[in-house]
Amino acid sequence: MALYKEQGIVLRTMRLGEADRIVTLLTQGSGKVRAVAKGVRKTKSRFGGRLEPFTHVDLLLYRGRELDIVTQVEIITSHRAIREDYARFAAGEVVLEAADRVAQERERSVRLFMLALGALRALAGGDGDPAVIADGFLLRLASLAGFRPSLSACAACGRPGPHARFSISQGGLVCEKCRTGGAVRVGEGTVPYLAGLLQEGPLPGAPREGRREGSGLVRAYVEYHFDRPLRAWAHVPR
Ligand SMILES: [Zn+2]
Repeated sequence: MALYKEQGIVLRTMRLGEADRIVTLLTQGSGKVRAVAKGVRKTKSRFGGRLEPFTHVDLLLYRGRELDIVTQVEIITSHRAIREDYARFAAGEVVLEAADRVAQERERSVRLFMLALGALRALAGGDGDPAVIADGFLLRLASLAGFRPSLSACAACGRPGPHARFSISQGGLVCEKCRTGGAVRVGEGTVPYLAGLLQEGPLPGAPREGRREGSGLVRAYVEYHFDRPLRAWAHVPR
């Protein structure tokens, strides 16, 4: 077995026997990694509370055939503030759940890692609305996975916008000619809200009206294109 160094975010942990845990990590260089942390549940464990979800850690691992083995962990940032506030915690759960879904085991994706780390930093930092941070993460994640929604030109024919209807299955705004039965008419603030989420830099404070509809569209869009429900989304206060 080979030893290797990584940094990662703890996505989740699962009990294994009396004293051990299986830890799922989103790493910077090795994609998703599942590793056994031995003795982690003993009171005198050398890992202590270092392998809690949301924590950004430096790791030394042994590569195993299926599961790796954690041999050393140091905390880079605990992101403790996420655990101390319900809205931040719920939004953080959305980030971890969606990242877990998209990440492939042992498939490097630095952009995915940085996107997730950025969202957790924003949540722990305390500025910004947790629900908006979660929405921004989800829409940027969809874009990274190849599903960037079209927010001005028609997603089907490219005709320049603005268009009034949004189609989840067609990939964004659609013109009157291209729209199918699933296309919904969106309110005035909705497209600016979605566009703001995709902008570089800090997330916007969008008008209340656009947020409500935009947030629901983000969820439906991500669930459709990732082909799975997002359980944590419904717990985020909006
Ligand atoms: Zn069209």
